[in-house]
Formats: sequence, structure tokens, C-alpha cells
Amino acid sequence: MILLGKRALLGAAAGLALSAPALAQGTYPTRPISMIIPFAAGGPTDTVGRLIAQVMGNDLGQTVVVENVGGAGGTLGAQRVAQARPDGYTILLHHIGMSTIPTLYRRLAYDAVNGFETIGLVTEVPMTLVARRNFPANNLAEMVQVIRRDRDRINLANAGVGAASHLCGLLFQKALDTAVTTVPYRGTGPAMNDLVAGTVDVMCDQTTNTVEQIRAGTIRGFAVTTPSRIAALPDMPTAAEAGLPNFEVSVWHGLYAPRNTPAPVVERLNRALVAALRDENIARRFGDLGTEPVAVARATPQAHREFWQADIAKWRPLIQAAGQFAD
Ligand code: ASP
Repeated sequence: MILLGKRALLGAAAGLALSAPALAQGTYPTRPISMIIPFAAGGPTDTVGRLIAQVMGNDLGQTVVVENVGGAGGTLGAQRVAQARPDGYTILLHHIGMSTIPTLYRRLAYDAVNGFETIGLVTEVPMTLVARRNFPANNLAEMVQVIRRDRDRINLANAGVGAASHLCGLLFQKALDTAVTTVPYRGTGPAMNDLVAGTVDVMCDQTTNTVEQIRAGTIRGFAVTTPSRIAALPDMPTAAEAGLPNFEVSVWHGLYAPRNTPAPVVERLNRALVAALRDENIARRFGDLGTEPVAVARATPQAHREFWQADIAKWRPLIQAAGQFAD
């Protein structure tokens, strides 16, 4: 979760459930399942989604097709799922935005709090403060100096209001007491392309999108936002080590189905998720990308719901006090 507060700061159409006989015979699923990613292809949520979709599909005996529905800070994809038939054939992989969107967005066409069944938590991903390759700084302190000095020219990329990159960027600007121009994208996949091309200057994004680029030298990484360094980037200092104390951000991801999806279907999807979380190849890929699967005890519908609802309650007063809404 983003520790911003502590430290620094439809319903789907009812009655469309699967027929009882289909469930009783345990036939679900009989056709491909669509996994909606509420951000553009190539970004961190997409990467996590494509990895788990493959193993979930093997476990379910049906293809799990990833579909990117980016835009409006992850609300368009969430809306698509909240308004889908609750039959287990449309699911959502989202992130911490599920906790902030209900307060940040005061007008939504779907119920952002009660519009979903939780399937399970997936992973918590550290973030990194990164910049274009030729950004004129050798470390975080110099990056901060340049941003303060050139504040009128610096562009900070993000994935729209409510996205993790937006929240981390806000925290960063607040820590620096410096506002810069933000450039919203439909996801940080396309934002990363522009960072690599040098047409935007800085970004805060999940390691699942930044580790490989940092290692390849196509962008520069200045700090990781966890209390300790991470194995995937052992030479990268934590933000605290690099001079930004209490700057801790991690981005949890969870899997959802539309409200009123029958419990046996949610349970079946949960079993497939657990199979993915136990998969050695997924653990290795997640590790390469600076993260790890959540403990299986946290990947239950109940644990996910409790965590999510507590996180909504944590964020609500912080966002209201900041008075920064998406509309
Ligand atoms: N990392 C993005 C964010 O800022 C979302 C994405 O493209 O996965 O929330």
C-alpha cells in the first residue's frame, strides 16, 4: 500500500448468474475468460496480468484473454467489469487505485466500492523514481536539485488521476515542495516508451515496468520506494538512503469479478489464482521484476475484501483532507 497518509501525508446487472445446473455439474468455465487490465499494454499491471493469465488458463482449461481497457486513471476498465455479466467470463486485475478511486472520483458510472466480488490479492510491487537516460543527475539528490531548478520545464509522466504513478508523483512533488507539469497516459507502458525516447523527463513507476529498462541503461533509476533495497536492483538505494526519508510506496494488485458472480465461480477463479501464485516460473519472473507473489493466505476472497475495504477507509480522509479530486 502507499504509506502516504501515515508517513507524509453497476453493480453488474443482477439476475444474470450462471444457471444452477451448469454450476452443479462443475462445468465452468466452458469458454475463454476475459481479463480486463485497466491500463495500456506493456505497463506493469499488464505484465502481472499476462503472467498470471497464462497459468490461470492452464489451471482452468480455458484461455484467459488479456484485454487492455486503459484511460481515466484505471476507471474505464473497472467500469467495464463492474457492468459485465456476473458469470465468471469477465474479470479485472487492478491495483491500489481500487482504494483511492472511490474517493478521488466523485462521479462514476459504476459502484467502485460494492460493484465487485474479490477473488484474491496477487502481489505488492515496489516503485522506483526514474528519469530519461540523459537526465543531468547522478543520484537522487542531484535529480531533486535539477527538478527544483528547472521546475517550469520538467515533465512528470503518469497513468492518470488515481493511478499509482499519479499518487507516487504527488508524494514526490510534496516531498520536494515543488510542482511540475504532469503528462497523463493510458498506462505507464506508453509513458515508458516516451521516457526511453526522452520526450518526458521523470516518472515514478512499479519495478515490474522499470527494472529491465534500468538494467539495460535505457532509463536511469535513482531510488526504490521500499524500506530496504530489493534483490532485483541491489545497487539502487532506497529513497531514505538517498535523502528522502519516509518515502515508502508499494502497489498492491488484486483480482475481481462483477458483483453477484456466483460463489462457486469465484472459488474456482481463486483456485486458479492460487495455482498461479504457487507457480515456480511466476515466482521467478516476479523476482526478476522486483516483486513476489503474495502469501497464499492473503490470496483469499475474504482476506482480499478486508484488506481492500480497510485501504479505502484509510485513503478516504487523506484524500478529502487534501481536497484533490479527479473532477
Ligand atoms: N503503473 C501504472 C500506474 O501508474 C499503471 C499501469 O500502466 O500498469 O498505476
